Amino acid sequence: MRDWSRPGAYPVSPGIHRIPLPVPDPGLHAVNVYAIEDDAGITLIDGGWAGQESEEALDLALRKLGRKLDDVRRVLVTHAHHDHYTLALSLRERFGARVLLGEHERPTVLAGFRSGPLAQEGLLRRCGASGMVVEFARALRDQELPAELVRWAEPDEWLSDGERIRVGEYMLDVLETPGHTRGHLVFQIAEAGLLFSGDHVLPRITPSIGFERAPEPLPVSSFLDSLRRIRTLPNLTMLPAHGPVDTGVHRRVDELLVHHGDRLAAVRGLVGAGEETALAVAGALRWTRRDLPLDELDLVHRGLAVLETGAHLDLLVGDGMLTGSTDSGGTFRYWPSSAAQR
Ligand SMILES: [Zn+2]
Repeated sequence: MRDWSRPGAYPVSPGIHRIPLPVPDPGLHAVNVYAIEDDAGITLIDGGWAGQESEEALDLALRKLGRKLDDVRRVLVTHAHHDHYTLALSLRERFGARVLLGEHERPTVLAGFRSGPLAQEGLLRRCGASGMVVEFARALRDQELPAELVRWAEPDEWLSDGERIRVGEYMLDVLETPGHTRGHLVFQIAEAGLLFSGDHVLPRITPSIGFERAPEPLPVSSFLDSLRRIRTLPNLTMLPAHGPVDTGVHRRVDELLVHHGDRLAAVRGLVGAGEETALAVAGALRWTRRDLPLDELDLVHRGLAVLETGAHLDLLVGDGMLTGSTDSGGTFRYWPSSAAQR
């Protein structure tokens, strides 16, 4: 077990505790939720993954603080992924906690009520990866929660950029940081120098981009803008959803900006060398911290890698570096734009 994922309640600042909860995805190890105490009870930043194991871990951690699950009176959720949102929904069902989520998560939350094809199926075909569609969609559906665990639902309140929320002695600023998901939020406590960074800035993982039911058209572009936005803030202590607390968020933001800059350059170079589809470009790149080839990733991560490559390519088309068109089979083929060659 990674050190940071060991169960417990770890002090971050007076009245603020980091609580790692288990997740069924072994690659993530755990998800950090943060408990902020005040006279009225507990405000959580993020919920965790619904299920008995998470709930028991949260209960144990809260008891160390002299609190209980029914002291949680609200949950501020950074985004609608299962490991952040679904335990918040079950805390509402069971104990009446209020659930607050970014307003631009609405399309994805509403899409969660519908069955039928996932947006990613069409996107994979466009990437030239038709052969992955059926298995990828099945793997995604297998990850979905059984209905008896928690009912998928809208939050009590949609949060917008610039809102301020008082929690005890602290004032939280709500900042929209689209990219990882289109409605992702981070929460800043300026006076304590803290940033609850959700999955937007993670110390060890490069966050996936646009992995959601209703993705936006250019998620990489939004993600890079959101990283630059964090770079305009003071160098706050990063309280991430996965991984240990880090004393300065700027260093990691810079690393992520360099990573994506390198990726954009590599992707552009591969199209210049004759690769035409997102699948072909992704197959020529290396993936994860271990530099694995595409076909050594598990199916879900292979699909995500292809989709992310498609997002990088589309960003270069948007910037005029590349151009292209859809062929008769529905695959988008890229080539260097003549303007960029001159
Ligand atoms: Zn996430």
